[in-house]
Amino acid sequence: MKLPDFDYHSPTSLDEAITLMATPNARVLAGGQSLLPIMAFRLAAPSALVDLRKIKGLDKIEITQDAIHLGPMVRWRDVERHEGLAAALPLLTQAMEHVAHYQIRNRGTVGGSLAHADPAAEFPGIAVTCDARIHLAGANGKRVVAAGDLFVGPLETCLQDGEIITSIELPRWPQARRWAFEEFSQRRGDFALAGIALFYDLDGERRAQNVHIGVIGATDRPRRLPGAEAALNGQALSDEVIAKACAAACAEVDPPTDIHGSAEYRRSLVGTLLQRALVKASS
Ligand SMILES: Cc1cc2nc3c(=O)[nH]c(=O)nc-3n(C[C@H](O)[C@H](O)[C@H](O)COP(=O)(O)OP(=O)(O)OC[C@H]3O[C@@H](n4cnc5c(N)ncnc54)[C@H](O)[C@@H]3O)c2cc1C
Repeated sequence: MKLPDFDYHSPTSLDEAITLMATPNARVLAGGQSLLPIMAFRLAAPSALVDLRKIKGLDKIEITQDAIHLGPMVRWRDVERHEGLAAALPLLTQAMEHVAHYQIRNRGTVGGSLAHADPAAEFPGIAVTCDARIHLAGANGKRVVAAGDLFVGPLETCLQDGEIITSIELPRWPQARRWAFEEFSQRRGDFALAGIALFYDLDGERRAQNVHIGVIGATDRPRRLPGAEAALNGQALSDEVIAKACAAACAEVDPPTDIHGSAEYRRSLVGTLLQRALVKASS
């Protein structure tokens, strides 16, 4: 189906983009990989598209001593190919391998993925697991929200009308951190039926601490699993401890049933994927 009519703008500065976004029912256009299909299906009919491509600097990846800064127009391909990122935040690079197919990875952006807020998308899950801070700018000024507060429900964020994601900040990791990403989808490149991202540190007695576990695909938005984290924090990761954490994870997700899988199937996947991820991270 052809797209509905809209005005197209291609600003060259963020200020200009923010001004244009004051137009009622205007939407940002980033990679277009989610927005344009939605428009073609008539699920969205924005009055205007504000294309961010010509604004310099929005596709920058910067790694400082304390943080990784991703511009909203950083594409999946940029993340995959960036050598510094693979060393600084390997969990991110590993998860990106599961995002769609290479044609889509050439265009899809990190900012677009956050704003689109698909509960099964990998990057929002990584952002929540890694305590990312999302920088926003709009007609009312700038603000920063924690990734855990950005997502309100399926395809829903706390972004106000006209607000633009301008940067994503992820804390740097200590060298010895343990981590893993596991997901299951029907075919490679499909959205995940369920996925687990996790990291933890080991103390001097090899007990897990600072455990972060995020889940995608099995909840209405990407979220942490505090019950499973509590079952692991302060513990040596024996088979028994891992089994308890997996049972806690299954109990704290409330997955949807759809044509791709039942709620029960997804719930059991969460336990299986968490078990695999913990074994992988500890090896
Ligand atoms: C066949 C197919 C398979 C896919 N599989 C996966 C997958 O397995 N995993 C996955 O994670 N994704 C998948 N995707 C989605 C893909 O990753 C998209 O690229 C991504 O979700 C949106 O990024 P985009 O840059 O294309 O955003 P767009 O489509 O341009 O925009 C999406 C939404 O975000 C808003 N937006 C974009 N940028 C900003 C910004 N900076 N500030 C505020 N709002 C903004 C837009 O207005 C729009 O509402 C798939 C897509 C397709 C078509």
